[in-house]
Amino acid sequence: MNDSNPSSVILGAGRSGLAAEALLQSEKIMASVFDEQTHTIQDLKDHCEENVIDQAIVSPGFSLTHPWCDVLRQFSIPLCSELELGWSRFKGKTVAVTGSNGKSSVVKWISEILQSMGYEVLLGGNYGIPASEVVMKNPNADWLVLEVSSFQLETVREFSPTFGVLINLLPNHLDRHGSICAYMAIKGRIFGPSFSSETNAILPFDLMSCYEKELQSVASVLSFGTCSNADYIASNGVVKWQGQPLLDLRQTHFAVSHLLESSGAAVAAFMHALEVDMGEVREATLSFQGLAHRFERLGIVHGITCINDSKATNLAAMAAAVRSCDGKVHLLAGGLLKESDLTFVKEILVEQVSRLYVFGESAFKMQTDWGDAVACSFCSSLEEAFDLACNEVSSGETLLLSPGCASFDQFSGFEDRGNQFRSLVSRWKEKGRS
Ligand code: ADP
Repeated sequence: MNDSNPSSVILGAGRSGLAAEALLQSEKIMASVFDEQTHTIQDLKDHCEENVIDQAIVSPGFSLTHPWCDVLRQFSIPLCSELELGWSRFKGKTVAVTGSNGKSSVVKWISEILQSMGYEVLLGGNYGIPASEVVMKNPNADWLVLEVSSFQLETVREFSPTFGVLINLLPNHLDRHGSICAYMAIKGRIFGPSFSSETNAILPFDLMSCYEKELQSVASVLSFGTCSNADYIASNGVVKWQGQPLLDLRQTHFAVSHLLESSGAAVAAFMHALEVDMGEVREATLSFQGLAHRFERLGIVHGITCINDSKATNLAAMAAAVRSCDGKVHLLAGGLLKESDLTFVKEILVEQVSRLYVFGESAFKMQTDWGDAVACSFCSSLEEAFDLACNEVSSGETLLLSPGCASFDQFSGFEDRGNQFRSLVSRWKEKGRS
């Protein structure tokens, strides 16, 4: 029997799917949730045959190539990202941030700055609370700050945030997106739809030529980077605009090179576009310590700087962290590799790493690929790697956990890995140097 009232289908009964359901229900829109734990593909087909469905809300866990998405396409049902559903109900301004590394830190930082200026701010998307859930709480807030993943961008149609920020772009999630070109194109959707976009685009100068088409239809373009042609140029802890210092990030968490050059410069560009007092931006930044497990300084123990960068789950993040350390580094790395070619980080390892301690599933490959150029100890666990490093590291050097890998071979997640490292550092501090 055909129910003639249009209704929605929601793919996925995780937090995003349930948030979408709650939002639609609050608007009296019929919504049926389908999840692989509780339904079969035949259930979905039957539902599509028996009902009039005008849209399918897709949770980020479902890729476009998922067979359930094929079913929806066969019934000509448009797919829509849960992120876009939430955003579409928001009345204020939106800043959406994407990139391969640094998204969470940037959205938290932006939301703290805006809050310190007295704005009412919602923070969500890929960061904690789904967009539909945060927006439902307060659709009239001043700002919606969204962390946006490539998975969420796959199914956006009209998403056009007030500001779309791309922090950086490195090969990532290619198992899902197929190729770097496909991944790049998906990331470009942060700048709004190609037919017309109200978005102000902020992106690295080096990537502008890759997004010529997308940038033609945006409201404005601001570029950043280290190159002298960028609008916002980062160097020596300061972001400059038109040759003048704009935002001094020295003594803040964002002073180190990898954070300054992309995250720091991007945020300076965004804040400058809002025409706010940059002195206030600096004040708010001084009190933001950064997020745990992201280049988190645990302190100086026995003269050695200890840094927990457990969230570095790819080699680009690891290389960036090594580059940002002062002087020589004893690097603890390993876990589940995302890349098969390890050579692109070798140069920075040779330059800055005194000794490498590799552990977890990738240990053998890391030792094979890097061991000819960098002193390398093969370890069975993080604890063994840490104990060995404690014996080798000298005062004035840095002890860095930046695994460059996912953690699930030996830990329940990057938080668990970082917390174990933190406990080892505390134990070492209490015990004293042997
Ligand atoms: P995301 O949310 O994109 O995963 P996070 O803020 O959680 O980003 O940081 C993830 C990892 O990336 C951390 O190891 C952090 O030190 C590193 N990182 C942060 N910003 C940058 C950057 N601009 N360039 C390279 N690595 C970065």
